[in-house]
Amino acid sequence: MGYRAEGRLARPDSLWEATAPPSPDLPTLADAVEADAVVIGGGFTGLSTALHLAESGRTVVVVEASVLGRGASGRNNGQVIPTLSRPDPDDLVARFGPDAGERFVALIRDSAAYLFDLVRRHGIACDAEQTGWVQPAHSPGRMRIAERRVAQWGRRGAPVELLDRAAMAALLGSDAWYGGWINRTGGHINPLALVRGLAAAAVAAGARVYVESPALSVERRNDAWHVRTPGGTVRAGALVLATNAYTTGIFPEVRREVVPVLSWQMATAPLDETVRRTVLPGRHAMSDTHGDLRFMRPTADGRLVTGGALLVPLNGHQRLKGIVGERLGGLFPVLRGVRFDHVWNGYIGMTTDYTPRVHRPGPDAYAWAGCNGRGVALSVSMGRELAAAAAGKDVRDLALPFTEPRPLPFHGLLRRIGPLKLLVYRWRDRREIA
Ligand SMILES: Cc1cc2nc3c(=O)[nH]c(=O)nc-3n(C[C@H](O)[C@H](O)[C@H](O)COP(=O)(O)OP(=O)(O)OC[C@H]3O[C@@H](n4cnc5c(N)ncnc54)[C@H](O)[C@@H]3O)c2cc1C
Repeated sequence: MGYRAEGRLARPDSLWEATAPPSPDLPTLADAVEADAVVIGGGFTGLSTALHLAESGRTVVVVEASVLGRGASGRNNGQVIPTLSRPDPDDLVARFGPDAGERFVALIRDSAAYLFDLVRRHGIACDAEQTGWVQPAHSPGRMRIAERRVAQWGRRGAPVELLDRAAMAALLGSDAWYGGWINRTGGHINPLALVRGLAAAAVAAGARVYVESPALSVERRNDAWHVRTPGGTVRAGALVLATNAYTTGIFPEVRREVVPVLSWQMATAPLDETVRRTVLPGRHAMSDTHGDLRFMRPTADGRLVTGGALLVPLNGHQRLKGIVGERLGGLFPVLRGVRFDHVWNGYIGMTTDYTPRVHRPGPDAYAWAGCNGRGVALSVSMGRELAAAAAGKDVRDLALPFTEPRPLPFHGLLRRIGPLKLLVYRWRDRREIA
């Protein structure tokens, strides 16, 4: 299996890099080591897998190509969201069947609560606020999405509630939306702080985590997985691929199922206390029903972290300040002229049907990819399940809806033209098309 090293990922100018507690000191692999399981990728998925494996008494090695959190986990908006972007519970059950489908739905339903519990259990300092996650409807027709989701999640015991226009305006401090829904288990975190805290917890539990150690090749030999990095090798019975949108050539069939799409994030300057009291006064995290998404969350130091998408990344930092600044001012007049201190971006792993992919790429090997922008809570819970799989639990008892990989034809082309989908989203946003 070939691999083209893409080098260390550049340090983004993110608020999280400026504010997260330092990473634990971690070595680079420079030896031949053995473990029960090897995990490739040091984001939420890989570190959660390692933590759960170590806690269950298994030996585990993580190899990360760059520094921890340089993939999506350290670059995201930090919204802890217990739902997927498009497929609703009934869609997942129809697709994966009543057993695997309902197990996966339950994992998603409980994923935000699980993340906040884990943070509390390990005392991870990541500014976690379980204030609730809100999806406001940007048009009267999109209220149907809210009604459908409240009905389907409510039937499955999630603490969800439909909100009318006045209730939404009171919750968010803007009457720009027509109502929507809330799930009270959601909220927000500083994502890079969570990455580093998860790593510290995994290491404390006995996991060995190596940075600057890209897996260059992976081979199954003599009933074991052999992973080679520039400085060493890992031999392990089980393997978990946790590289998601940043998957390189070592598992081409997983890489070619996901289209990485650049998403831009921006942090405002700290807001005055009077402004803070009127914009997201309940400190909720929110992402609305636009395809060209409006999203934001408050931070511990009084900023808003928001962002947007661009058709062409050229001069993106400057252009976004104008586009998103104007958008924010339209939603909250008090934010007109707000300054942005940080602008950064990262790749979201999109699939054609907005549904994550979970695979068994070989004996005792497990992988998932394709969060479609809803992977903070999901990847921590997926890590728990992947750890159970790697520890030998019967896969029929796991909340992992396995499918066969179906690499996308013309994947290279799709990677290039993926951003053009934004034109479709914008066209639909102006109509009542969900
Ligand atoms: C800008 C942005 C905003 C987002 N906002 C939200 C949000 O608010 N809420 C939400 O729920 N989701 C959000 N997401 C999605 C979420 O961040 C991801 O789903 C989640 O972080 C995925 O975690 P992961 O560990 O699976 O992958 P990643 O964090 O991407 O980790 C993969 C790791 O694998 C490493 N790697 C790759 N190849 C190799 C190799 N050969 N050897 C060793 N290591 C390798 C990479 O360096 C990387 O560190 C956002 C994503 C982005 C990009």
